Amino acid sequence: MPRHIVCLTFDFDTQSGFIARGMTTPTPLSRGEFGLVGARRILAFLRSRGLASTWFTPGFTIESHPKICDEVVAAGHEIGHHSWAHIPPATQTRAEEEADLVRANAAIEKLTGQKARGYRSPSWDLSDHTLDLLAAHGFLYDSSLMGADYWPYRARKGDKAELGRPYGFGEATGLIELPISWSLDDHPHFEYMRGPQGIMPGLQSARAVMQNWHDEFLYMRKSVDWGILTYTMHPYVIGRGYRMLAFEDLVAKLLDGGAVFMTMEQAAREAEQRMWGP
Ligand SMILES: [Zn+2]
Repeated sequence: MPRHIVCLTFDFDTQSGFIARGMTTPTPLSRGEFGLVGARRILAFLRSRGLASTWFTPGFTIESHPKICDEVVAAGHEIGHHSWAHIPPATQTRAEEEADLVRANAAIEKLTGQKARGYRSPSWDLSDHTLDLLAAHGFLYDSSLMGADYWPYRARKGDKAELGRPYGFGEATGLIELPISWSLDDHPHFEYMRGPQGIMPGLQSARAVMQNWHDEFLYMRKSVDWGILTYTMHPYVIGRGYRMLAFEDLVAKLLDGGAVFMTMEQAAREAEQRMWGP
């Protein structure tokens, strides 16, 4: 019996990403604040469809916007770990990274009653220490790597990449990797960003992007009997009206096409059972 799982994931950054990039003037901060408007639209839509999803929520958002975070939890969605301050781990020392990880987990535990089961790195760049830290802090899964599309895998640590030498594979960890892709993330497609390194144009047609995302599901259905497809969205990005309409139509098409929606934790547990279980 084929089974094609879809995980809708929302990185609930609000202002944290802008602050981490030093963009603290009123307009960029208000751009992050729009995530509260978007989050309410998304929650209402998911409720109307009876769908569970995963919200990777920085500690910053939990402590700055507690009411909406309570609503996310009350609606039955999973809260995943997305750092406290949205600083990319690859730019931190091990001690800084661990302190931030512990602080964010404390905020999540206070919000939900338990520590996070899953982790997604801010800006999707793990440090050399991240996987060790996730294992030490009892995480079940990570969702920051791009080494597959529809099949989870065990995240490896200690790979060696040296110029002029063959690739050195490290050892598999116990962490289940639920892979992602920039192509399945709303941010690069839609967000216009102007910075010292140049311009990210974004602002693509929402219908065209959702067509690509639907084709990705069709290809999963065509190529594997069982798989997990993960879409990554940000409430301040997908929450714009014309994007919501296109996203809602995508979800309707996925439901028509037999997609099984679940949280990342549920998907990771199903993968564990199916791929590595007894
Ligand atoms: Zn983020």
